Amino acid sequence: METKIVNLEKKNKNISLLKEAGEIIKRGGLVAFPTETVYGLGGDGLNPESSKKIYAAKGRPSDNPLIIHISKTEDLEKIVTEVPNNAKLLADKFWPGPLTMVLNKNESVPYETTGGLETVAVRMPSHEMAREFIEYAGGFVAAPSANRSGRPSPTRGKYVVEDMEGRIDMILIDDSIEIGLESTIVDLTGEIPCILRPGIITKEMLEEVVGRVETDRAILNPESKEPPKAPGMKYRHYAPKGELQIIEGEEEKVIAAINRLVMEEEKKGKKVGIIATSQSLACYRQGVIKNAGDRQKEMEITRALYRILREFDEEEVEVIYSEAFTKGEFSQAIMNRLLKAAGYHIIKV
Ligand code: AMP
Ligand code: MG
Repeated sequence: METKIVNLEKKNKNISLLKEAGEIIKRGGLVAFPTETVYGLGGDGLNPESSKKIYAAKGRPSDNPLIIHISKTEDLEKIVTEVPNNAKLLADKFWPGPLTMVLNKNESVPYETTGGLETVAVRMPSHEMAREFIEYAGGFVAAPSANRSGRPSPTRGKYVVEDMEGRIDMILIDDSIEIGLESTIVDLTGEIPCILRPGIITKEMLEEVVGRVETDRAILNPESKEPPKAPGMKYRHYAPKGELQIIEGEEEKVIAAINRLVMEEEKKGKKVGIIATSQSLACYRQGVIKNAGDRQKEMEITRALYRILREFDEEEVEVIYSEAFTKGEFSQAIMNRLLKAAGYHIIKV
């Protein structure tokens, strides 16, 4: 299949391109598009054939439900049985933005989109061109991240092209991705809202709006035998080609440990990578050193993480050491992704 690849420019707002992309979705085709979190791989969320195509293009198991993206809050009530008060409050506060809400679906949403579940995940992105595209596409765009299953979520257009060229109809590129990690998912179908996937909208932020919020136990304790409530969280996510290990502890000890480990591995002839921060960068001497950003500006780190993992693959790094990110507001979201990429391999110093 021929994939049309286009760069979106903020200035002229690209109305005709967004319209064209919307038409493709309405006809049952697939379009990758930028959002503030990561690139999405969109199809018509109300068309079962489109959802099947999404799974095929990604190579993703079809019991892993898709998130439906909408462009205006009023559209939420068209796909769920009821909009509970908590959902109204959270939408008021956090939409458009990186919050996905799980609610009971109505009959307009096919099981192909929800992986057979009676619930549907819904989000309204803050990325303006994404919302315009969704509007032109008919209002309900089902989209997982636009990577092939098992690869890191793409935060750059070139990675979408790498993974999806020839598999979908169109790729819209705008590399001003702000966040770089997937949305927070909160399940509102139970009595107490429950976080199924951590993101930069934190438990504390949700609690300010709706009172008590729980976190799925499978996220807090990945060793637990309990299956996660977001089916997608059970799949082994991206593991870089190189073996990734996280080093946790006091800053100086972490730096010393990483320097020692890098030396040992390089002696064995291995190509070694380091995920450092602006604060620690100057303390490393050897290896392929990547700066994930300033610890005081956590959004730099969320934005850099998946790109760095892809770069290590491109550079064929064999062993990777990352500092841990256990302190800031976004630490749960960052560590959730990093731990998965490391297969939960963490060294405490
Ligand atoms: P991605 O599309 O890659 O951002 O992944 C979507 C995530 O949302 C996966 O982890 C899914 O399991 C989760 N998800 C989507 N719909 C539901 C739902 N109805 N209930 C629980 N989790 C969901
Ligand atoms: Mg994904």
